[in-house]
Amino acid sequence: MKEALFYKKLKNKLVQCELCPHNCVIKPGERGKCRVRENQEGKLIALTYGKLATAAIDPIEKKPLYHFHPGEKAFSIATEGCNLACPFCQNHTLSQKPEEGFPVFGEIVTPRDIVDKAEETGCKIIAYTYSEPTIAYEFWLDTMKEAKKRGLLNVWVTNGFINPKPLTLLLPYLDAANIDLKGFSEEAYSMMGGKLKPVLETIKLIHDKVHIEITTLIIPEFNEQDVQDIGKFIANLNPKIPWHISRFFPHYKLKRKDPTPLEIMRKVEKTAHATGVKHIYLGNMGINHKS
Ligand code: SF4
Repeated sequence: MKEALFYKKLKNKLVQCELCPHNCVIKPGERGKCRVRENQEGKLIALTYGKLATAAIDPIEKKPLYHFHPGEKAFSIATEGCNLACPFCQNHTLSQKPEEGFPVFGEIVTPRDIVDKAEETGCKIIAYTYSEPTIAYEFWLDTMKEAKKRGLLNVWVTNGFINPKPLTLLLPYLDAANIDLKGFSEEAYSMMGGKLKPVLETIKLIHDKVHIEITTLIIPEFNEQDVQDIGKFIANLNPKIPWHISRFFPHYKLKRKDPTPLEIMRKVEKTAHATGVKHIYLGNMGINHKS
């Protein structure tokens, strides 16, 4: 636990978190929407600090990042929690925890322990992934500083739902990011408990400062119609930004009977190419498919 960065104290021991665009106003004894930042007697406390929920070694391509140190291993870590609530989350057992009122689960470790472990396992990259790294901001910022000092690279796999000020403070320590662009309408984002505009602002802010790749999970009737707008947005920023278009498989609360049909993926692929984005990768097709 650590006092949070980016919050302000209001009257009557209320606090306002300024880390993500929810800007939660939190009463004493309560938590923000991410359930991992708590008002303790008028101070905002980051409950995720020092609580490592999971760690694994993945190929960097699994993040997915295809144009950033291909073939390298990434020491991949996460805490519990997320600031969105996507009904199709593939990592909901981690991202949608802790449940209301429950403590944050995790092995007690320091940033230095994490970097030691990454080095011991021969990883040159640390990936902050599986759940949303933003909500463990203080823990990850310290870990990223330690990693940089020791010559390791830092990668975020993020929903991009973060305020510009904390994002800017992070940039000197960040080497690459895969950012989800899950749709291109406020309606789609409201279904996930978020907003589209701040995600677009995040992408605009960082695309020319660190290496980025974008991921869109295609869910029939939810966002297949947004592919053209997403592609145009990416191409307009830089047509060389890699774009991963993944096939949906039923998960969590979104209990569709079947995965996204392959013919929809092919149609989406054609639409995506027509937008001018140069590097398009279809994922979850059975085999990784470059087009
Ligand atoms: S990080 Fe959590 S507490 Fe802070 S504004 Fe976002 S959801 Fe609310």
